[in-house]
Amino acid sequence: MDIVGEYFRLNPDSKEAYERACRSIPSGCTRSALYWPPFPLYMRAGKGCRLWDVDGNERIDFNFNNTTLILGHNHPKVVEAAKDQMERGTVLGAPTEVEPRLAEELVRRLDGAERIRFTPSGTEANMQAIRVARSYTGKEKIAKCEGAYHGSWDAVPVSHEHNEGIPEGVMENTLFFPFNDPEAAEELVKRHRDELAAVIVEPVQRDIPPLPGFLQALREATERYGVLLIFDEVISFRLSSGGAQRLYGVTPNITTMGKIIGGGFPVGAYASTEEVLGPLRMPDATLPDMKGPRVGFSGTFNAHPVSMAAGLAVLREMRPRVYEWMADLGATIRNGLKAALEDAGVKAHVGGVGSIFHIIWTGEDVVDYRTAATGDRALNAYFNLGLMNRGVFKLGHPNVSAVTTEEDVGFALEAARKTIRDLRPIIKERAPHLLVT
Ligand code: PMP
Repeated sequence: MDIVGEYFRLNPDSKEAYERACRSIPSGCTRSALYWPPFPLYMRAGKGCRLWDVDGNERIDFNFNNTTLILGHNHPKVVEAAKDQMERGTVLGAPTEVEPRLAEELVRRLDGAERIRFTPSGTEANMQAIRVARSYTGKEKIAKCEGAYHGSWDAVPVSHEHNEGIPEGVMENTLFFPFNDPEAAEELVKRHRDELAAVIVEPVQRDIPPLPGFLQALREATERYGVLLIFDEVISFRLSSGGAQRLYGVTPNITTMGKIIGGGFPVGAYASTEEVLGPLRMPDATLPDMKGPRVGFSGTFNAHPVSMAAGLAVLREMRPRVYEWMADLGATIRNGLKAALEDAGVKAHVGGVGSIFHIIWTGEDVVDYRTAATGDRALNAYFNLGLMNRGVFKLGHPNVSAVTTEEDVGFALEAARKTIRDLRPIIKERAPHLLVT
């Protein structure tokens, strides 16, 4: 089957929408993660696990806005909560009662967290977490893992090679180390202890789980040398009711979140202790002495009431057994993909944890950015197109939701089997080392 030809045949209206969009928007869309060649699909509607594009094609969603919609599209309870809030006003220009309700729900779930603040995105949650860490420690540098994504802003490029448009003065304050390398992390923290404010990591980096002992080593080294540890749980918070930190038993100083906690509306949050977030507090000023806080923090859409209400509705549905169910479904899909590859005589790395899964087209064991980078990205793009042709929407950070069914997974695995077969000639041409038979 001609994967690309079939994609063009099935999606003429998306192609037209794309061509029109390109006349006003670079690459026809506003998120680089949502562009793929030859053109992205333009969506019209979603419901539960289903997505419909402008051509009327129906697909089972395994992307859920890059892991956001843990209850699927338009869950009735989330829609009701958001509508109820909207009818009483979208933004009211003052704090609302729903904000502390979501705050309490999140703080309760995070060991060691006492206070939390909300932002409109995960990016801004990380920006603020780092500012707070710098203020608290009085130090300027930060360290991050190569390959980790903490939002599109200057201080945290994916790697030191991705520095286009970033001032040198900013790059000088960011240090990089490989994920899953405890010795390198300890060495870096020790060497830079006098200038390092924080180490920020995704406890599960993209789809790569931490090797046993890595997060513990980071915790010990940062604690020993007076450096704060920030866990970016923007994606990994979906792994248990207390995030990846509960799953792996390591408590950071600051946790940042996003995605699922806004119920499909823009959101971010950062949580820590009263002591670390203290500088955000307004001084106990009495009139007429009005002073600002030590660390400034504002934003027109921070703690947006609709995001707060929708996020609260999501968390209330997420009982511990729901996470277990999702993890079982994730394991089914990972095992099914491994079996499909084996039966087709193709080598590739199947990764992920809990409700997250991924294929990287490499013969290597993937434990960090460099090993992940050995994957053939074009093969992944062909694989995604082939799945889309067969009614499966896989992209970015594939995942299952709480409303994904075993039938949906079965359908996707059947589509994967057929697509891997279609891919063989392309693999033979591009990456023959991945063919076993
Ligand atoms: N951190 C991680 C781990 C992420 O995956 C993302 C977004 N994919 C962000 C931060 C940035 O969040 P946002 O897109 O809401 O700004």
